[in-house]
Amino acid sequence: MPLSDFENIGDLSPATKLVAGGRRKDWTGAVVNPPVWRASTHLYENTAALAEGPRHNEDGRFFYGRRGAPTQWALCDALTQLEPGAAGTVIYPSGVAAIVGVMLTLLRPGDELLITDNAYDPTRSMGLGLLTDFGVTTRFFDPLDLAAYEAAFTEKTRAVMLEVPGSLSMEVCDVPALTRIAREKGALSVLDNTWASPLGFQGLTKGADVVVMALTKHVGGHSDLMMGSASAGAELYGKLRERAQQLGNIVSPDDAALALRGLRTLGVRLKQGTETALKIAQFLSQRPEVAQVLCPMLPGAPGHDLWLRDFTGGSGLMSVVFKDVTMARRNRFVDALKLFGIGYSWGGFESLCIPIAPAGYRSIMPWPPAAENPADVFGVRFSIGLEDAGDLIADISQALEAMGQG
Ligand SMILES: *Cc1c(COP(=O)(O)O)cnc(C)c1O
Repeated sequence: MPLSDFENIGDLSPATKLVAGGRRKDWTGAVVNPPVWRASTHLYENTAALAEGPRHNEDGRFFYGRRGAPTQWALCDALTQLEPGAAGTVIYPSGVAAIVGVMLTLLRPGDELLITDNAYDPTRSMGLGLLTDFGVTTRFFDPLDLAAYEAAFTEKTRAVMLEVPGSLSMEVCDVPALTRIAREKGALSVLDNTWASPLGFQGLTKGADVVVMALTKHVGGHSDLMMGSASAGAELYGKLRERAQQLGNIVSPDDAALALRGLRTLGVRLKQGTETALKIAQFLSQRPEVAQVLCPMLPGAPGHDLWLRDFTGGSGLMSVVFKDVTMARRNRFVDALKLFGIGYSWGGFESLCIPIAPAGYRSIMPWPPAAENPADVFGVRFSIGLEDAGDLIADISQALEAMGQG
């Protein structure tokens, strides 16, 4: 069954796929976007049609509300078309639900999971909490230390959880090398690709077996919905889909329509956010209050070389480590910003800034690396939105002045 009425969509460039993806005529009718199909019950023509039973539980066929309807299917199709190497995409009610859904598909009691030490904190908590309760052992590894990583595998290691760049601290790891080692050891690699999206990093072609995104961030893009996705090749996709159904995961058609709307402009938003973030990174790297700008697109920043080698795009999420700045001064900086909201999440159209303390979310990687007194080092994370770069830099500049001394 074609994924789209646009012929050979697989040959088109990502910008065109963002526009054409998921727009099957059966689902859109005469309008551009698929309508919001609100449905629990799907009706059958007659008892003979009903008796076909399991055949209805196939992609693109009406069955029952928990399997979604064309609004959700269109979003899944569009995401699959964007992800080179994917045969299908499952959507979940949040990014965390996607990560947990994937792990509950791949892992069994007695298995071991290796999680990158700089993973998003709820991913870490899943390993230490939920998965431990279900008999899975989690261990953390430093994704920049390939030798230690390789040595961490045992015959029980079933899966590896990667994230690039690392949460808050923004390290860029060598995904092709890490996934190659996992494969040699007989383990599956799952990549959280929320930062770059498939526009900036094509995870399945870089060796990951499953790519996960928090659609809450860039794809939604407007800070008004929660959703996650997992894309994979045919065999794993089938397993993910079945487990998601067993877990009762379903996304509302309204949210799917919003996510599809966000997806259409993902390319221009990411490009703009990346460009502005780089300008801000350059500005900050010249400031005396700043020890380090953690922005992979910035020449000279940690991970820049691997970013150049492996990525086709960037994102507006970056962090900054201050120099000789107390917690009180750092907090004054954040409070003095006028154009940056203070809040979790990121990837929306509006800029955000939060204080960060990655050390509290690490088991084996010191943060910041090589600091004499790590407890005295403070930083922030910016999510750069679509405001004018000059206005944002002026705002950051006045906040640096307002931070004062001591
Ligand atoms: C936010 C985030 C998630 C989780 O997404 P939610 O939709 O908030 O559950 C997962 N991974 C990364 C890297 C994130 O930033």
